[in-house]
Amino acid sequence: MGFATDAIHIGQEPDPATGAIVTPIYQTSTFVQEGLGRHKGYEYARSRNPTRDALERNLAALEGGAGALAFASGMAAINAALSVFSRGDHVVCTRGAYGGTLRLFNSVLTRFGLEFTYADTGCLAEAEKALRPDSRLLYVETPTNPLMALSDLRAAADLARSRGLLLAVDNTFMSPYFQRPLALGADIVIHSTTKYLNGHSDGIGGAVVVAAGREDLLRRLKFIQNAAGAILGPMDSWLVLRGVKTLAVRMRQHNQNAMAVAAWLSSNAHVARVYYPGLPSHPRHELARRQMSGFGGMIAFELHSFEAVGAMLGRLRLCSLGESLGGVETLVSHPATMSHVSLTPEERAALGISDRLLRISVGIEDVEDIIGDLDQALS
Ligand SMILES: *Cc1c(COP(=O)(O)O)cnc(C)c1O
Repeated sequence: MGFATDAIHIGQEPDPATGAIVTPIYQTSTFVQEGLGRHKGYEYARSRNPTRDALERNLAALEGGAGALAFASGMAAINAALSVFSRGDHVVCTRGAYGGTLRLFNSVLTRFGLEFTYADTGCLAEAEKALRPDSRLLYVETPTNPLMALSDLRAAADLARSRGLLLAVDNTFMSPYFQRPLALGADIVIHSTTKYLNGHSDGIGGAVVVAAGREDLLRRLKFIQNAAGAILGPMDSWLVLRGVKTLAVRMRQHNQNAMAVAAWLSSNAHVARVYYPGLPSHPRHELARRQMSGFGGMIAFELHSFEAVGAMLGRLRLCSLGESLGGVETLVSHPATMSHVSLTPEERAALGISDRLLRISVGIEDVEDIIGDLDQALS
């Protein structure tokens, strides 16, 4: 079946007990057993919950994986994925990865003996140079936040395989509708479901999806999910399931709106530079066309001065100023003082994040209204 059909139906068969067309929220901690060792597959809801099961089956299908596991947040999912490694293991990670990921790696996991090297994974030679004999994982985010830099996933998978590493890809920005890392050779896909998968800005969640043929890894992750216990609750699982049903139509509209907004920004005299993989001016536009089936809803752009940034943000009426992304409503953020504030000015400069840079998560409102609001705020 096609992607939209799978999104609506996989894991979401009518409830066997009642026929309810929508998967119920099984808000329960435990399941009554008929006798010693006799139960319906559910014992205690940290281990398994039918609502979370439905979401996990759904996400596994959308990414084309052997299985999926849902977590309390994107960060909990990343933490679980990294928990399959041991003291002394080395990880090469995309230099511009999500700030929370860098914080987890540098301030928490290094204390447990994992070691990290950051490289521009868009340049495979640089990633390869960072590899060591004890490297176990290549961790790639593409496109990156906020500058929309791309890494070639097939090339990264070839490198990982040739050196005996796992490849994990944070696919939050594209969602499986536009990018399928497992089909390009990745072993693990990670999501913050908080963003496009939920899509309605009303829940925090995360997921790990494991490639077919890596059932050993899936079992280890399932063990970690139960052992460490950072599961997604039934209500939040239900909200993501609800969101995923419209993922295909939402992503098409995010993409269409973002193309229009990016083109409009590119021709605006107040805008110094636009970063969007769908623009032919993007340095990896050809790669974007090859490995993604759309360009998504995220755009970064630079104004000519920090003063202009403050003035513009103060005048927005429809678009909201806020962190996060991937919801139906348009959100504008200022990376230097919001998502990347924990970095030093030097670290931000090294990543190319100036204080004149803005990021926009283009929503699915009428695009004339989005552009109209940006226009009145900029002029
Ligand atoms: C938001 C985000 C995360 C973290 O997810 P949470 O749900 O906020 O914990 C990880 N990676 C990317 C790319 C994100 O945008």
